Amino acid sequence: MLDEIKEGLAEVSCDVLVIGGGTAGPMAAYKAKRRNPAARVVLLEKANVKRSGER
Ligand SMILES: Cc1cc2nc3c(=O)[nH]c(=O)nc-3n(C[C@H](O)[C@H](O)[C@H](O)COP(=O)(O)OP(=O)(O)OC[C@H]3O[C@@H](n4cnc5c(N)ncnc54)[C@H](O)[C@@H]3O)c2cc1C
Repeated sequence: MLDEIKEGLAEVSCDVLVIGGGTAGPMAAYKAKRRNPAARVVLLEKANVKRSGER
């Protein structure tokens, strides 16, 4: 889905955009995908999903 990043910018298209990969975000993304497996769900995190935003 994320084809390439040019000069720090990328264009992504999706049906559901979840911003924040902390505790709530991945659950929201998971539930959206479960509700509609055909939906293109993107989870956007500014730092680190594994550590709830901590770098
Ligand atoms: C030290 C500490 C200990 C804790 N211990 C516990 C515990 O033992 N038990 C418990 O139940 N709760 C605990 N909590 C509380 C728990 O961490 C929070 O309630 C929970 O993480 C909130 O989830 P959230 O998804 O709303 O926010 P967060 O987990 O904070 O997630 C938000 C995410 O959004 C990202 N983000 C922010 N701005 C942007 C942006 N512009 N673009 C992209 N991404 C962005 C951040 O990087 C982060 O990953 C603790 C909290 C702290 C600080």
